[in-house]
Amino acid sequence: MSFSAEAFKRQFPLFAQPENQQLVYLDNAATTQKPQAVIDAICGFYLHSNANTHRSSHRLARLATDMVERVRGQAAGFLNATSAREIVFCRGATEALNLLANSLCSELQAGDEIVISTAEHHANIVPWQMMAQRFQLTLRYVPHTAGIPQFDRLSEVLTARTRIVSLTGGSNALGLRPDLQGIARQLRGRQLHWIVDGAQLAAHERVDVQQLGCDFLVCSAHKFYGPSGIGLLYGREQLLEAMPPWQGGGEMIAEVDLYTSHYAGLPHKFEAGTSSLAAIAGLGAALEFLGTQDREAMAAHEQQLMAWLHEELAEIPGIRLLSQPQHNLGIVAFAPVNGSAADLMHWLDGRDIAVRVGHHCAQPLIRAAGETATVRASIAAYTTRNDVEAFVQALREYLALAETPDSEAPQRGVEW
Ligand code: PMP
Repeated sequence: MSFSAEAFKRQFPLFAQPENQQLVYLDNAATTQKPQAVIDAICGFYLHSNANTHRSSHRLARLATDMVERVRGQAAGFLNATSAREIVFCRGATEALNLLANSLCSELQAGDEIVISTAEHHANIVPWQMMAQRFQLTLRYVPHTAGIPQFDRLSEVLTARTRIVSLTGGSNALGLRPDLQGIARQLRGRQLHWIVDGAQLAAHERVDVQQLGCDFLVCSAHKFYGPSGIGLLYGREQLLEAMPPWQGGGEMIAEVDLYTSHYAGLPHKFEAGTSSLAAIAGLGAALEFLGTQDREAMAAHEQQLMAWLHEELAEIPGIRLLSQPQHNLGIVAFAPVNGSAADLMHWLDGRDIAVRVGHHCAQPLIRAAGETATVRASIAAYTTRNDVEAFVQALREYLALAETPDSEAPQRGVEW
């Protein structure tokens, strides 16, 4: 099956709005745009079946409950989990990682070890730091060179006390996609839990948790054309079964007495309170939508644009390219040699080219690269050749103007 980014893009109504006709949207690692089917599903939920789940059994409540459990089944299929009981709905990858950190670490002993990497998003660093402080655990990092983790040397930091290894499935700052099979090989046979932060990965590749052999995987729907406010935690059933709940409240109990409670079974034990029901309806539509696409062709298209961008940017003097095209999920990251990344971003924004500037919630990585802020252009399947060409041309223009000493030069000194 061949893939047309132009035809794919036509399914995303934001791009058809009059104010967005010229928009070049290259901030997909932050969030993707939504296809009409997802927008319709969210509206449809509120129009036709809005009620809270489980609490009652009237017609609308049944519709809402059936919808949630149907989407849970779809999500299990999306990640190839063995059962829908292994899928917990969360607000996003951040909440899923906080759930794991709080629940798993409360069972550890002082001195037990957690391994993460310098390429993690803050969502996969800060919760572990908090737990390490609370429970006197030791945080270790995969060996790295200038911040780039050497995942093939992971085993060097594993000890008899390692209980949790929580690593990215793809860096949101550099696009770097670790060899997950290589990580799996190093972890095989050890008494620890392997968590994959799949927030970026799930947007660009088919994820098969059984084939990966991970214990847990987290992701956010808004990164793969679904709504914000909803994400997935996959966990092996027997592990989730044994873990204590994190948040307490309605929906997660079987029975509440004055001083103790009995918790509900999986996966409801981990879903306290009312979920983002309309977002779950939107997630269902996103999964159905993705299910009808040729994901391999989508990925091949993204890889082609990403490789082309790297080739072009490698030729441009005046920037320091930080990302690499090898094992990259579709991100190009660089810093201007002179002047600030923020000035460049504002100038591009003036041409309606949306890129992101900053530390990308990956301060240890960006700092180790010797920068405080980088420019990041990130690709989705609707990104066209025209989009990336417009970006490269604008970048060249900016840098040429920056070389010009007189009044033509772009404004400097925008605060960041
Ligand atoms: N991990 C990675 C690699 C990410 O890119 C992100 C989002 N930028 C997160 C975790 C957190 O996701 P969310 O903000 O949707 O919870």
